Amino acid sequence: MPLPEQGAGIAAERVALAAALGKVRDQISSGIDSALRRGATAESDIFAAHLALLDDPELLAAAENDIAAGRGAGFGFRRAVRAQCAILAGLGNQLLAERVADLKDIERQVLVALYGEPEQGPELFDASILVAEDLAPSALTRLPRGKVAGIITAAGGASGHVAILARSLGIPALVACGPSALALEQGQTLVLDARAGLAHPRPGAADLAAARAEIEKLEARRRMMQASANAPAITVDGVAIEVAVNIANADDAREGVAHGADAVGLLRTEFLFIDRRDAPNQAEQTAAYQAVLDALDGRNAIIRTLDVGGDKDVPYLQLPPEPNPALGLRGIRTGFAYPDMLDTQLRALLAVKPLSRLRILVPMIADVGELIRLRERIEQLAGEMNLSERPQLGVMVEVPSAALLADQLAKHADFLSIGSNDLTQYTLAMDRCNATLAARIDSLHPGLLRLIAIAVDGAKQHGKWVGVCGAMASDPQAVPVLIGLGVAELSVSPRLVPEVKSLVRGLSRRHCEEEARRLLTLASPQAVRGRVTELWPGA
Ligand code: PEP
Ligand code: MG
Repeated sequence: MPLPEQGAGIAAERVALAAALGKVRDQISSGIDSALRRGATAESDIFAAHLALLDDPELLAAAENDIAAGRGAGFGFRRAVRAQCAILAGLGNQLLAERVADLKDIERQVLVALYGEPEQGPELFDASILVAEDLAPSALTRLPRGKVAGIITAAGGASGHVAILARSLGIPALVACGPSALALEQGQTLVLDARAGLAHPRPGAADLAAARAEIEKLEARRRMMQASANAPAITVDGVAIEVAVNIANADDAREGVAHGADAVGLLRTEFLFIDRRDAPNQAEQTAAYQAVLDALDGRNAIIRTLDVGGDKDVPYLQLPPEPNPALGLRGIRTGFAYPDMLDTQLRALLAVKPLSRLRILVPMIADVGELIRLRERIEQLAGEMNLSERPQLGVMVEVPSAALLADQLAKHADFLSIGSNDLTQYTLAMDRCNATLAARIDSLHPGLLRLIAIAVDGAKQHGKWVGVCGAMASDPQAVPVLIGLGVAELSVSPRLVPEVKSLVRGLSRRHCEEEARRLLTLASPQAVRGRVTELWPGA
C-alpha cells in the first residue's frame, strides 16, 4: 500500500493514529468477545496477544518519533512495525520470528483503519486450497469456511497462530512450505494431505482418484463416529468415560447434544457478563441457565461462577489496573471482592430446576478456606430460598496449590475439574496470551502430568471424581494419558465429541494406567508426545 511519507501536520497525524489504534483495538476486542462466546479459547488468546502488541510502548514511541519529524502516521507506524519485524526475524529464533506475522497483521489493520483501503479477499472456488506467503490470523477467521478446503503457506511455523487457528477451525493446513509454494498457479488442481504433511501439485488421474477415495473414507469415518456419538464412551476394559462439552449458551448446548455429548462439563458464565454496560440481574441469569438445562434433555450441566479479571475484563466492574492481572483479582477472588454480584449469581443458579441436574463449579480456588466459605454462602442462600435440594459443588483445579491440596479440597467438594489452560500457565509460569511462548505452553509437560496425578489421587481418597475442562481434554494425544491418570470426564468442544468418544472406545484403561505412570518420569513434553505416538499411533 503506497503511504504518504509527508504528514498533514503533527497534531492531525497524532489524532489520526490514535483514532486508528482505537478502532483496531475495538475490532480486536470484539473479536475476542465473539471467540470467547463461542468458547474458542485458542482464537481469543491469539487476539489478546494482538491487543498487547497494539499497545507496545516501543512500537508507539517509534511511530510517534516519525510523526514528530513531520511524517505521516501510517508511514511512521509501518516503519516502526517493520523495524521490529527485522529485529525479530534476525534473532534466528523460530518462535520470535513467528511474531512477525502477528505484527504484520496489526500493521495491516492499522493502515486500513487509517486510510480505509478496502481489504480484498481472495477469489475462492468451492473446495479451494488457499495458497499464500503467509496469512494474517484475523484474515483466516474471516474466510468463508464452507469454501476453504485447505491452506498452504510459504511462511509461518507449526506453532504459529495460523496453524493453531486452522486446527481449531478444522481446516487442513500446511505451513512453512517455503517459497516454492508460491509457484502454484491460481486455479490449478492440487492435492493436500495435511496429516502426511504433503501437497501434490500435479496430481494425475490416479492420484486424484486416490485423494477422492481418501476424502470419502474420512467422511465415512466422520459419519460413522457421528452415528455412534450418542452411545456412551466405554473403554475396551469396560470403564465409562463421560464426554461432555464446553459451552457458552443454550445454542451450544443443543449443538453438544446433537454431537452426542453426555453432559455439559463447563458453561463459562462470563459470556453473559461481557459486552454490556452492567451486570445481568438475577432473573436474566436464571433464564439463561435454565435455558441451558432445558436444552439438555435430562443431562447434567456444570455451570461455573463468574471468572473475570486476568485476561477477561468486564468494564463495568472497574477492576483496578494491576501490574500482573493473571496473578491478581480473578476468578472466585473477584467474586469475594464483589459479594453482591456473587450472591446474585448464586441465587440465580439456585433458582433453576431441577437442582439435581445442576453442578456449580468455582474457578481459581487456591485453598480449602475459599471453598468452605463459598459452600457456607450457598447453604445460607439456599436456606433463605427454602430449598430442600442442593446442587453439587465442584472446584476447578487450575492453580497449582489446588492440585497439591486436592485431598483437602475433595473432602469438601463433590467433584474436581482440571482447568488445564490456567494450570499449564501457572505451572510453567508462561502467560497463556503470550504468542511468543505459544508453542512451549504444552499441557503434556511432565510437570503438569504430575500435578494432575496428585489431584486425581487426592480426590480418590474421598471417593470424588475428576474431570478435565481445559483444552487438554480435546487433544487426542492427551486423552489416553488423562484416562491413565484416572480422569473420569473429558469436556471438549461440541464438534469433537464423536471423535473423542471413538478414541476412548479403542483404549484400555489398564494399559493407559500402566503407561501414564511411566510418562511421569520423562523430562519434556516432546518426550511425552513421542512416547504417546509410539503407544497410541491413532491418537
Ligand atoms: C482453564 O483454565 O482450563 C479453563 C477451562 O478455564 P478458562 O479457559 O475459561 O480460563
Ligand atoms: Mg481457567
